[in-house]
Amino acid sequence: MGTVRPKVFKRPEQDFSRTGEIVQVASKIKSQDIRTKLVDLVKVCTTSCNLEEAEIIVSGGRGMCKPENFALIEGLADVLGGVVGASRAVVDAGWKPHFHQVGQTGKTVGPKVYFACGISGAIQHVAGMSSSDVVIAINKDADAPIFKVADYGIVGDVMEVLPALIEEFKKAKAC
Ligand SMILES: Cc1cc2nc3c(=O)[nH]c(=O)nc-3n(C[C@H](O)[C@H](O)[C@H](O)COP(=O)(O)OP(=O)(O)OC[C@H]3O[C@@H](n4cnc5c(N)ncnc54)[C@H](O)[C@@H]3O)c2cc1C
Repeated sequence: MGTVRPKVFKRPEQDFSRTGEIVQVASKIKSQDIRTKLVDLVKVCTTSCNLEEAEIIVSGGRGMCKPENFALIEGLADVLGGVVGASRAVVDAGWKPHFHQVGQTGKTVGPKVYFACGISGAIQHVAGMSSSDVVIAINKDADAPIFKVADYGIVGDVMEVLPALIEEFKKAKAC
């Protein structure tokens, strides 16, 4: 049996012409053989951070400079109806909990639009978001690796670009 992490591949169209043989196999395992048991189910997060299912993700990296500046990431996510993602640098710094982390040791995501704000584009981050349909990167360093995987790139300071984007999207929504 083979399994992959959610969103690693795009879901193909269902092919109803394909058939298979269902073989019922009786389990020989007795309940006393099972050494693990479910003690509790703790839901730490609701739809507001369901990154795997999100169609729009706005992620922030260390380039956001301090946790308070994540209000801009949340602002853009809010106006677009998206959810907030983060790089590992942000999670390691304690700015955001781990369930926001995108990448090799975080979530693998495949939204329609992925904003990478102040994220360098390290290979471990890209591993988690490269199957996004459209990637928009904002970084003040024109040579940042994230621009290699971006469809649209904005070279600039997140502190200037993000407020301008939020303002424009608000205007567009009001029309
Ligand atoms: C085994 C392993 C697993 C890992 N797993 C993950 C993972 O799952 N996810 C992950 O993200 N990383 C992961 N990493 C870490 C990864 O290698 C990088 O260290 C991390 O992604 C860097 O995060 P960052 O891009 O936010 O920070 P940085 O690399 O510090 O980049 C910050 C970027 O912000 C830009 N910037 C700074 N100020 C501004 C500004 N004012 N405006 C605009 N841009 C600005 C800079 O130019 C820079 O490009 C892993 C590493 C290892 C070794």
